[in-house]
Amino acid sequence: MRNTINLGKIFGIQLRIDYSWFIIFLLITWSLGGHYFPHYYPGWQVLTYWVVALSTCLIFFACVLAHELSHSLVSKAHGTPVRDITLFIFGGAAQIVSEPEKPGKEFLMAFAGPLISIVIAILFRFVVIIIRDALHPVAALAYWLSRINLILAIFNLVPGFPLDGGRLLRAAVWKITGNFRKATRIASGAGQFIAFLLIFFGMFMFFTGRFFNGLWFVFIGWFLNNAAERSYRWVALKDTMRGVTVEEAMVKECYGVEGDMTLEQLIHEHIIRGGYRCLPVIESGRVLGLVTIHQVKEIPHHAWTSTTVKEVMIPLDKTKAVKPGDALFSVFETMTREDISQLPVVQDGELVGIIGRDNILSFIRTLSELGI
Ligand SMILES: [Zn+2]
Repeated sequence: MRNTINLGKIFGIQLRIDYSWFIIFLLITWSLGGHYFPHYYPGWQVLTYWVVALSTCLIFFACVLAHELSHSLVSKAHGTPVRDITLFIFGGAAQIVSEPEKPGKEFLMAFAGPLISIVIAILFRFVVIIIRDALHPVAALAYWLSRINLILAIFNLVPGFPLDGGRLLRAAVWKITGNFRKATRIASGAGQFIAFLLIFFGMFMFFTGRFFNGLWFVFIGWFLNNAAERSYRWVALKDTMRGVTVEEAMVKECYGVEGDMTLEQLIHEHIIRGGYRCLPVIESGRVLGLVTIHQVKEIPHHAWTSTTVKEVMIPLDKTKAVKPGDALFSVFETMTREDISQLPVVQDGELVGIIGRDNILSFIRTLSELGI
């Protein structure tokens, strides 16, 4: 993934930090060290404020990681792998490879995060009780962390998908109706409603003088709305593609080009005039590889007359070939994730077609226009 820093792996799950996270990290540290602690705990030394603020903020994000990790570990325990956990401007997100297959699993997975946050909140509360001295820097740190983890749990329990509470709602509707798509539509509809409330509330705050907090709510609402919409669209797409194989959507008439053709010829005769973006390279009846517009773009214009197709093509064994019988949705998922626009369809070492993301999307459009 671009724009992220790798933090290594924990329980086999990749941890990452998105660059946008530094913004929220600095904002929280600055508001704690510059405002919150000096306001509620007067009399400390200046350096103490900043050390406590920085430690509080770091521990807070460790708590966010613990929240995401608990979702991930429950998901893994139920056999659904987790690709990574990323900290970003709005907190943390675990990338779970596929949707859960049963409402019960989804319920447990969604509940694990807020549960851990509540447990952490209680633990910090104990620290405050043990220290007893209300003005002690560690008590101040523990008090803030106890409160913020409770807020984190409560906010995440709001029943709007893709928040944890929205997942709980989806699991419940799914259990009752037995319809995953319908459950997702209801839960993400609730997510969008909550998103609009947040935006509305944020605008109200903005216009009544609390500019920063107002803007923040508007941004969270906007983010939540996008996420809810995207999640539903994805589930609907998956539902439409259920049982469909690559063979049904692929382009069968593969138009081959000779390997010793120059790029100049390829571009003018096939790419511009023919409208092809991906072509198999054929030599004496055998497919050697593929050439796509991406490989051509890599070569500077002046070298187009002296470079042959064979020199730039991806050899067949280097391409991530798929089989005609593969499930269309999982191929589409891989292509979207890895940003691949086309893949060769190979059976018994022979090229039988090409599958492109645009083929898949137009195939889906046709299906839904026909109401299938
Ligand atoms: Zn969560």
